[in-house]
Amino acid sequence: MDPRQKELLKRFGSNVTLEEKEGCVYLSGEVSSWEDAVSAGQLCAKSGSKTHVVNDIRVSGLEMKETKIPRFTDDAIDGKRPDVLIIGAGVVGCAIARELSKWKLDVLLVEKEYDVALHASSRNDGMVHPGIDIHPGLVKKKLNNRGNRMYTRICSELNVPFDRCGQFLCFDRKNILPILYMTLPYWLLTGVGATRVHTYDSLRKKEPDVSPEVKCALEFKRAGIVCPYGLTIAYAENAVQNGVKLSLDTAVLKMKLVDGRIKAVKTNRGTVFPKLVINAAGVFAEDIAEMAGDRFFSIHPRKGTNSILDRKARRFVNTTYSLMGTQSKDEHTKGGGVVGTVDGNVLVGPDAIETPDKENFDTDAKSIKNTFLRHSQVAPWLKSGDIITYFTGVRAPTYEEDFIVEPGRRTKNLLHAAGIQSPGLTAAPAIGEKIAKLAIKKLKKTGRVEKNAAFDPVRVPILRPSEMSKAERAALIEREPDYGEIVCRCEEVSRGEIIAALHRPVPCATVDGVKRRVRPGMGRCQGGFCGPLVLKLISQNLDIPEEKVRKGTQDSELLFGPKGAAL
Ligand SMILES: Cc1cc2nc3c(=O)[nH]c(=O)nc-3n(C[C@H](O)[C@H](O)[C@H](O)COP(=O)(O)OP(=O)(O)OC[C@H]3O[C@@H](n4cnc5c(N)ncnc54)[C@H](O)[C@@H]3O)c2cc1C
Repeated sequence: MDPRQKELLKRFGSNVTLEEKEGCVYLSGEVSSWEDAVSAGQLCAKSGSKTHVVNDIRVSGLEMKETKIPRFTDDAIDGKRPDVLIIGAGVVGCAIARELSKWKLDVLLVEKEYDVALHASSRNDGMVHPGIDIHPGLVKKKLNNRGNRMYTRICSELNVPFDRCGQFLCFDRKNILPILYMTLPYWLLTGVGATRVHTYDSLRKKEPDVSPEVKCALEFKRAGIVCPYGLTIAYAENAVQNGVKLSLDTAVLKMKLVDGRIKAVKTNRGTVFPKLVINAAGVFAEDIAEMAGDRFFSIHPRKGTNSILDRKARRFVNTTYSLMGTQSKDEHTKGGGVVGTVDGNVLVGPDAIETPDKENFDTDAKSIKNTFLRHSQVAPWLKSGDIITYFTGVRAPTYEEDFIVEPGRRTKNLLHAAGIQSPGLTAAPAIGEKIAKLAIKKLKKTGRVEKNAAFDPVRVPILRPSEMSKAERAALIEREPDYGEIVCRCEEVSRGEIIAALHRPVPCATVDGVKRRVRPGMGRCQGGFCGPLVLKLISQNLDIPEEKVRKGTQDSELLFGPKGAAL
């Protein structure tokens, strides 16, 4: 008997069955909890294997949540025949779109949400990982290494703040020091790049506020930090500026296949007829693969919660740091730790919890408490009173815990960028590059594909008076007085910045959309003061009645009662 089947029998009796065919392990049956269903999948998977687990085990009594999609329909993209249809405008879909805009192609990027970067791409730690804990044989290792190296150029072209601040992995035992020195060639060999061993004293010169219990550390110099949604928005803006068409509020619902090719893709905004389809749907990549007749992997959503600390905590963190051994062995997270953000806050987290709900963005006290307890060991200065808010993101791992960046196995005109869990943000530039290469290769088989000679790699950013010298700021305000009127006091955001955010290549008409672009509401008061003013500016500048201006998602209008009564 197959040893995996034997183990399944031992753990779940005859309730779960396994069948291996066409290079996949198919699991079916019924168990009593989601954790059991996931552990059955994990039991049958081999890290990095190309034989993927497809998990169809049901959980008795569990009703799976419906995917949230826009409730309206129209014909905005009906009948379009793009060369490439990209599904999902997270950092991966947007990086692919920008890479493809270097070619003379008709590219359509569709996103089911009202804005780009609303799923994992805005709900992560923003760390550009050096790749320390990824097995060298995995696809994600290669893409992480390449992506990490691309960051300096990409962020400079897109005008996105990026800090290659480094990362400290701390140890609470002094006797590990000789071993740390012995690991140095390994880091070089596996592409992690420049690494330094720190003694008690040399570590304190860089990070004076780590716990006195920390005795030594490894410093990975290629680690960096970036604003993940800032980068995704910038990718999308530059892609649109170079000719990509972006359709928001557009959910892919169904596909029609003929002779192993996708002929038509139905959305809530019409049916399109693409030559090539790219699956960059994050935690929904398995659903897209299913629609495309190419489901050879499963995604098991894994949520992670982070706390955001007030700017005043930033003085305790120059880089990012964590203590080795503070996570349990079977916990699948890169560990996180305390992460200083490019915007001057500190993140604490994340944890890693399996969930059946792909859009489970709930935060709970237990997660916050656990991550605080864990990271207090390296950062004794952590105070829950410094928390200004929390967020949860959902990772999209396969059971093999590797990325799938390859052509469809059964469907000919399909490419997958699936299973993109952490370090997907780091790897996104490299995934964009790789998928674009595969796409061009496929398209060249059906005709000539030319370079886009007009491609402009540079994205012009929104002006930030708070980051200018006094003289520059004075000159700007002289020219454009709106930049002299502060709307958000916590984050020093001017009226001019908010108006500019409303008129960019990617549409933005919500309070949260403005917040992600220029930060009003990101500070201590969380929009208590500036929220109504931002709402008013959106209404005035985009000609939307105040009572129709939304915070974010559908049905999130902020004003109630008689028209105009609240402001
Ligand atoms: C808590 C947490 C911390 C992390 N920390 C880091 C980190 O520090 N560094 C790092 O490198 N990585 C990190 N990651 C991983 C990183 O966030 C992801 O790998 C990356 O954001 C994945 O991007 P994506 O574009 O593939 O997916 P997503 O951002 O999820 O985008 C997929 C998009 O597809 C859309 N979509 C889905 N279905 C449809 C449909 N039917 N029609 C239209 N659109 C659809 C979704 O709405 C979504 O916007 C972290 C992840 C989490 C959850």
